[in-house]
Amino acid sequence: AKFPTNTAHPGVPKTAAVYATLVHGGTERGVFVFVVPLRGPDGAVPPGVRVAAAPETTGLQVDYAAVLLDGLHVPYEAWLRDGASIDAAGRFHDPAGSPAARLTRSMGIAPAVWRAVISASAAITRASAGMLLAHSAGRATLGRLAPQRPLTDYRNQQEAVLGALAAGYALTAVAAHAQARRTAADAPAPGGPDGGPDTAWAPWSAVDRDLALLKAAATTQAQRTVSACRVHSGAPGFAAVERLNAYRGLSHAYLNAGGDNELIRYDTARAMADLDRYTPPDPGAGPPDDGDLRSPRVWLFLARDTERRMRDRLAARIRDAAAGGQDAFTAWNGNLALAARTASACADRLVLEICAAALDDGPPELRPVLGLHALDLLERRAADLLNEGAAPPGILDEIWAARRRTCDELAPRAGDLAAAFELPPEVTAPAAFLGGP
Ligand SMILES: Cc1cc2nc3c(=O)[nH]c(=O)nc-3n(C[C@H](O)[C@H](O)[C@H](O)COP(=O)(O)OP(=O)(O)OC[C@H]3O[C@@H](n4cnc5c(N)ncnc54)[C@H](O)[C@@H]3O)c2cc1C
Repeated sequence: AKFPTNTAHPGVPKTAAVYATLVHGGTERGVFVFVVPLRGPDGAVPPGVRVAAAPETTGLQVDYAAVLLDGLHVPYEAWLRDGASIDAAGRFHDPAGSPAARLTRSMGIAPAVWRAVISASAAITRASAGMLLAHSAGRATLGRLAPQRPLTDYRNQQEAVLGALAAGYALTAVAAHAQARRTAADAPAPGGPDGGPDTAWAPWSAVDRDLALLKAAATTQAQRTVSACRVHSGAPGFAAVERLNAYRGLSHAYLNAGGDNELIRYDTARAMADLDRYTPPDPGAGPPDDGDLRSPRVWLFLARDTERRMRDRLAARIRDAAAGGQDAFTAWNGNLALAARTASACADRLVLEICAAALDDGPPELRPVLGLHALDLLERRAADLLNEGAAPPGILDEIWAARRRTCDELAPRAGDLAAAFELPPEVTAPAAFLGGP
């Protein structure tokens, strides 16, 4: 059974693109795509197809169903051959060259999905930031330290609002990068020089390692920011069923969907350890600019240095495990925590490089905005900075001080920063029921 699919609605005709292994002459020839009608215009489901509707879910509501194909016959024309054929003598030919290459080629749809997912992640992050600002602006507090003090005078809320806005800008830059970037999967033939690395967990990284990793990074960031906006919006955030909660469901679903983030990270880490189409970044001598955390050169130095140290350590651990007689499963299984963090460090570095490049082309006002996002990324990466010896104890105090300064600079511009997102007014309007009948 294939689950989830959005096929349950009885009134919506559906045609599926089924990814299935072609077996010919008793040999597996790779995963191809087959066109399979699941439901006709009259709502009827053809013989050999069963559609079992799933119960309603609160996360990302669509008409989920499990689809079971049993003894289904499809005509030859339903096979989207992409140049492969079975000739008159019954011999199988595939220009892709191997079942593994065919799988990668069939998964070539993924970059379009990832671009859409990254753009959607940016959009819901912007919307959530706008909603949190609308909730927070003008709201007074009753805390005894300072009664009637505006909520956004408190650093926790101020940093949540401005950090969410900054994440919206950063993900917008990542989305623009992802849209412009051509990938091996866009090329007419597979296996070109830009082809992805060998993979062990899932086919995704073989299609495009960096775009898959950016999908994982964007959905993780969106999920984090949307969730923070929901919590920092208090009870109205909890009740924002069709907005913050729906965005949260979407971002949460896409941690698994469109290529499971964890598996993408493991394959990325494996490519990093094996130096398979991966070159460790050169941090250069440093830290530059006296380690001033406002400098993009310092963010990049710290991110590159940490990534490099983690990669080297991961590679050494895998090498030592193999030298000690461990098989590949045991060697990797003992290092999955480091592997996931190493790939995440690589993702952070890619995002920071995209942000630094956006600063080169963008207006000067962008600098503290993306600088704030960089500080948030470095704060999250602080455990690794310390663990790898890439930064000394006290780094968190430095990051927090830099963030306070940046927030002081940005706070008066919060409204302008949100306005530039051009969110439809209904996105930031208070929930209608809160206004009373
Ligand atoms: C909303 C939604 C929409 C989806 N849409 C589609 C779609 O349109 N088409 C489609 O084909 N699929 C779709 N999926 C399926 C999605 O790709 C899978 O859910 C995802 O790959 C995880 O696989 P699984 O659900 O079988 O869970 P499992 O394989 O049980 O994975 C559970 C967790 O176990 C871990 N895990 C699994 N295997 C390994 C391993 N080898 N090593 C280490 N850890 C592992 C991972 O962390 C994973 O997150 C969708 C999923 C969701 C949630």
